[in-house]
Amino acid sequence: MTAWPGAVSGLPEAGLPAPEPDVCPLCGSRSGTVISTRDRSGGPLTNLLCGSCGLIRVTPRPGRQEHESYYRHSYRLEYKGRSLPSRRQWRRAERAAADRIAWLRAAVAAPASVLEVGCGFGLFLYRLKTQGCEVAGIEPDARCAEFARQQFGIEILGEFAETTPADGRKFDCLCCFHVIEHVLDPVRFLASLRRHARPRARLLLETPNADAPFPRPRRRFHRGHLYSFSARTLDLCLRTSGWRPLSVATSPDGGNLFVIAELCEPEPLQLAPGEGEEALARWRRASSARSYYASPAVWRRALIRLGDRVLELLSSARPDPF
Ligand SMILES: [Zn+2]
Repeated sequence: MTAWPGAVSGLPEAGLPAPEPDVCPLCGSRSGTVISTRDRSGGPLTNLLCGSCGLIRVTPRPGRQEHESYYRHSYRLEYKGRSLPSRRQWRRAERAAADRIAWLRAAVAAPASVLEVGCGFGLFLYRLKTQGCEVAGIEPDARCAEFARQQFGIEILGEFAETTPADGRKFDCLCCFHVIEHVLDPVRFLASLRRHARPRARLLLETPNADAPFPRPRRRFHRGHLYSFSARTLDLCLRTSGWRPLSVATSPDGGNLFVIAELCEPEPLQLAPGEGEEALARWRRASSARSYYASPAVWRRALIRLGDRVLELLSSARPDPF
């Protein structure tokens, strides 16, 4: 066993240098336990569960320049295989947009204006726009941002939430779907959203649930995900950055967290006794092979994915929309 400095314990892979643990952006601690040294493709990636607050983070994190360049040029190509969507990805985006608009309508009766951070090629915003909503996006991928502008007439305010000037523009509702797990510092990211929010604004946020029984044990960590949130650590990040959660729910299969939060003053971080130990025990229970194979949600999800794949194959003969 190789122990890292600062009370870090774990099992870095043989032959890999143990990186110097950095500071947890939520609680400032350097202590923690290495819970994984591989990404889901088998490449080197170290994830640490903070010994103080339980937040799971990649360590060491990339530098800001490297991180921004990755999301400007490489992420979509690497993760989706292309910048603009295939027919299959378009269909999935249509389904996701419809689900998210239904969620938004239930959470915020009639939002006059919506800002989506990480809006991709803009389909969600475009569907909202056709329903009479004022919309704008933030998106680092230049091809996606250009498509959203040209094809959908979406106003793109900037590349990254942290560096996009507010310029007096304020929105009723801010949306971040599968974005917060990618940012360099989730507390700073959430705090930066406040600049774009009207008083009583709502934030809708979706992210993978670290306490879900899937993906299977060796495939849990994507190298683009710098953080993995449980309902508890996400709640703590929101409160300390000035967003009070009104509702925290999981998807029917437990795989994603859905949060509705309202703008508030930042609250001091309040950790329960044994917060980190409890988070580690919860993660170990959730991520065990036993939890994975015993979970009905895992098998239900596999069947749904199989059905989706069959439908996609049946329509694959048709040309892509781009
Ligand atoms: Zn921490």
